[in-house]
Amino acid sequence: ATQEETLGFQTEVKQLLHLMIHSLYSNREIFLRELISNAADACDKLRYEALENDALYGQDPELRIEIEHDADAGTVTVRDTGIGMSRDEVIQNLGTIAKSGTAEFLKQLSGEKQKDAKLIGQFGVGFYSGFIVADEMVVRTRRADNEQGVEWRSKGEGEFTIADIERPERGTEIVLHLKEDAKEFADDFRLKNLVRKYSDHIDVPVRMPKVEKARDEEGNEIEGSETVSWETVNEATALWVRPKAEISDDEYKAFYQHIAHDFSDPLTWSHNKVEGKLEYTSLLYVPERAPFDLYQRDGVRGLKLYVQRVFIMDDAEAFLPLYLRFVKGVLDSKDLPLNVSRELLQKSPQVDSMKSALTKRALDMLKKLAKDKEAYQTFWNTFGSVLKEGPAEDYANRDKIAELLRFSTTHTDSSVQDQSLADYVERMKAGQQKIYYIVADSFNAARHSPHLEIFRKKGIEVVLLHDRIDEWLMSHLTEFDGKSLADVAKGDLDLDDMADEAEKQAQEETAKAKEDLVKRVKEALGEDVQEVRVTHRLTDSPACVVLPEHEMGFQMRRLMEAAGQ
Ligand code: ADP
Ligand code: MG
Repeated sequence: ATQEETLGFQTEVKQLLHLMIHSLYSNREIFLRELISNAADACDKLRYEALENDALYGQDPELRIEIEHDADAGTVTVRDTGIGMSRDEVIQNLGTIAKSGTAEFLKQLSGEKQKDAKLIGQFGVGFYSGFIVADEMVVRTRRADNEQGVEWRSKGEGEFTIADIERPERGTEIVLHLKEDAKEFADDFRLKNLVRKYSDHIDVPVRMPKVEKARDEEGNEIEGSETVSWETVNEATALWVRPKAEISDDEYKAFYQHIAHDFSDPLTWSHNKVEGKLEYTSLLYVPERAPFDLYQRDGVRGLKLYVQRVFIMDDAEAFLPLYLRFVKGVLDSKDLPLNVSRELLQKSPQVDSMKSALTKRALDMLKKLAKDKEAYQTFWNTFGSVLKEGPAEDYANRDKIAELLRFSTTHTDSSVQDQSLADYVERMKAGQQKIYYIVADSFNAARHSPHLEIFRKKGIEVVLLHDRIDEWLMSHLTEFDGKSLADVAKGDLDLDDMADEAEKQAQEETAKAKEDLVKRVKEALGEDVQEVRVTHRLTDSPACVVLPEHEMGFQMRRLMEAAGQ
């Protein structure tokens, strides 16, 4: 080997390696999924680059992945005929973690094995997971448009060595030297099962050697007559292309784990082929757990985009609105050009109509999920506050979104947000025109607000809002099912329709009797208030502050102040 140099891993890689080896032990078989997934990505990339430059295929037009093992040597090899890597790419890809947010991610790790294992799986540590089972990894690779081969070696401790090598074949070969306690993976049966379990849906054939010996006339094997033939072990068609009826739940789940880098099963999914003016196939998933960057609005989101089965890009965010950023999946379009770029996607009217169709699909999928109360609650607890961004972002679908919202209310008096507006409407009192709500900083502040006294007395339900986004939500959600939504801390309450005659008369008398008091309070408060009124909304507290109907709420004011406005 020439031009050999030894380099140190980036600090984050070292941290990650350490954590991974210690926390993913019980999931260690995933290394194979990760390496096959990278090999398949590399084939996708070659296919894509070859659209412009057919010569990249060279003498070997066949894209494939090969898996071999050697039980005596204790090795497993994963090889692909994909794009390969140049020396610089090797250093960059296998020495650092290029993904943004890594530092934040590492901060979230708790030191608790189980929790961290889940987080790490989701982060998609990919390549480095080889070190869970190997005490040395050797990568040999040549980029399809490059003459020079490269070898990378590491024991997964602090450093790696890199050198130039001869390598006639393009693509990448990864040799894992298995640890003493991981030798079980150097086994034909074990490997085959893992390939089927994790990689059935991959578009590229995954092959394993089948050794056969010729037999003599009596049917005995002839020594030294071994021939090796390659057998395709996986299904090798893209999952979403297959007819729905032929795909099992387990296959859908495995595919989700592949695209979302998640160990958990998805909560639900929706697979659709659309034919007509626009032709495309979509497969959308709702995850069970939130990614660590859910609240970073520039975090990774969106669908994996394919055009006519050719992989184009990850995280194509143009196809779903921001408030559905938790949805994962694949979109395969027949109509977009193969050389489509992110910029082009933003300007395309076809993308716009796909976006609105996919948005509807996603909302319908959630509506279906809502029929399963327990599953929907899991969804809501994780992603509810993201969905609450919906009415502001997507005016056209606000009714659909409103049906999907869940709240705390005085009906349950619990901080669990599990009541829909439809539930509320069903329980409305005779004569009640509006849906009442209160916004506060916390559930307890909402629940104990003096504004609720009159409502509790009259037995009228009030929605208790206590998420940071709630006031923003309510400023865009003014109606549900023909009923307007009213903030109990603002303007007139209009409870009069529900008061009986005697009550009304009593109220008028009180108002008269207290005229003097009102005058004195008004003088005392002077310009600090617009108006002082006798109120019937309190039953126990002596006084409360009320905002005019169209005034910004307290929460919003605080938000604006915090933002320096
Ligand atoms: P990810 O796949 O999420 O990008 P990985 O850690 O699995 O992260 O891989 C890191 C990078 O290394 C990949 O993005 C890719 O650029 C490169 N890489 C890994 N395996 C291969 C391979 N078999 N062929 C070409 N490039 C590869
Ligand atoms: Mg990967």
